[in-house]
Amino acid sequence: MYKNFIELLKDADIKYYKDEPMCRHTSFRIGGPCDVFAVPESIDELKEVYSAARECGLRTYILGKGSNVLFADEGYRGVVISTEALCDVAVSGNTLTAQCGASFTHIAAVARDAGLSGLEFAYGIPGAVGGAVFMNAGAYGGKVSDCLAVSTAFDPVSGRIIRTEGDAHEFGYRKSIYKTAPEKVILSAEFTLTPGDKNEIKAKMDDFMGRRRDKQPLEYPSAGSVFKRPEGHFVGQMVEELGLKGYTVGGARVSEKHAGFIINSGGATAKDVTDLIDHIKARVKEAYGVDLECEIIFVK
Ligand SMILES: Cc1cc2nc3c(=O)[nH]c(=O)nc-3n(C[C@H](O)[C@H](O)[C@H](O)COP(=O)(O)OP(=O)(O)OC[C@H]3O[C@@H](n4cnc5c(N)ncnc54)[C@H](O)[C@@H]3O)c2cc1C
Repeated sequence: MYKNFIELLKDADIKYYKDEPMCRHTSFRIGGPCDVFAVPESIDELKEVYSAARECGLRTYILGKGSNVLFADEGYRGVVISTEALCDVAVSGNTLTAQCGASFTHIAAVARDAGLSGLEFAYGIPGAVGGAVFMNAGAYGGKVSDCLAVSTAFDPVSGRIIRTEGDAHEFGYRKSIYKTAPEKVILSAEFTLTPGDKNEIKAKMDDFMGRRRDKQPLEYPSAGSVFKRPEGHFVGQMVEELGLKGYTVGGARVSEKHAGFIINSGGATAKDVTDLIDHIKARVKEAYGVDLECEIIFVK
C-alpha cells in the first residue's frame, strides 16, 4: 500500500518524509509519527497527493501550522499533508489573497505594509490561513468572518475546486462550513480590507502583540486556549478560582500565566494533556455546572 504510494510521490517528484514525528510539526511539540508526511509545493502537487492516497486506499489529514491540534502519542496511521509550502500572498486594491499555508501573522504584516486595515487581529495568531478559515480564528474583537470575502477549496472526492462566498461560509464561534466537511481542503482566501493609516495599523498590531506577550505563556509549547468560551463564563477565571493554576499531569501543566492554556512543560505526552483536560472538565462541571468544550482538535 505505502510502497505504491511512495512510488507515486517519487514519480511526481513530491517532497515527503516517512515515519515523521508529529511533535516536529505542532506548536504543542507533542505527537507520535505519521506514516507519511507529504509537502506539496503547488496545488497540482496537492491534488496528486490526494489522488495517490485515494488510489492506495490511504487516509489523509490536512495540516496547517499545527497550532490548534493534539496528535496522539501513537501518531497517525495515514498521510499527513502539510500546506507549509503553499504560501503565496498578493494584494490588489483592497483585496488581499493568500494561499492556505501563508502565515496568518505574515498576511497581517503584508496588509499593514499595503496600508490596509482589517487583519490587525490576525497578528500573533500562530496559524496559517487555511487553519484560520477552518476555525474562524479571532482575537481582540476581530475574526476571519469579519473580512473574508471568498475562499476556494479542493474536494478530493469529486476532484473539483469549489468557491465559497461570504455568508455561505456559515461562520460561528470557532466554526465554519469546513468544519462540517473536513474532507475539503481550503486552497486560498480573499480578504476584503479597508484603506487605513499605516502607523495606526502598526500601533494596533503592536498593542495586540504586547498583550499576548503579557498574558500568554508564549515561552512554552502549547496549542493556545484549550477550551471554547462557554456562555456567561470565562474559562481562565473558573480554572484559577478552583486553584488549578500550575496543576500538573506528567509534563502537561495548567499555565500559571493564563489558566486557559495547557503548556508542555517538558516531555508532555498527548495522554498527559487529555488526562489534565478531563480533570479540569470534571472540576469545572462539579463546581460551576458548566460543560467545557475543547477548542483544540484531537487527531489519531
Ligand atoms: C500561543 C497560541 C495562541 C493562539 N491564539 C489564538 C487566538 O488568539 N485566536 C484564535 O482563534 N486561535 C488562537 N490559537 C489557535 C490557533 O493558532 C488557531 O486556531 C489557528 O487558526 C490554527 O491554524 P493552523 O494553521 O495552526 O491550523 P492547524 O492546527 O494545522 O489545523 C487546525 C484545523 O484546521 C484544519 N485545516 C488546516 N489547514 C486546512 C486547510 N488548508 N483546509 C482545510 N482544513 C484545514 C486541520 O485539519 C485542523 O482540523 C492560538 C494558538 C497558540 C499556540
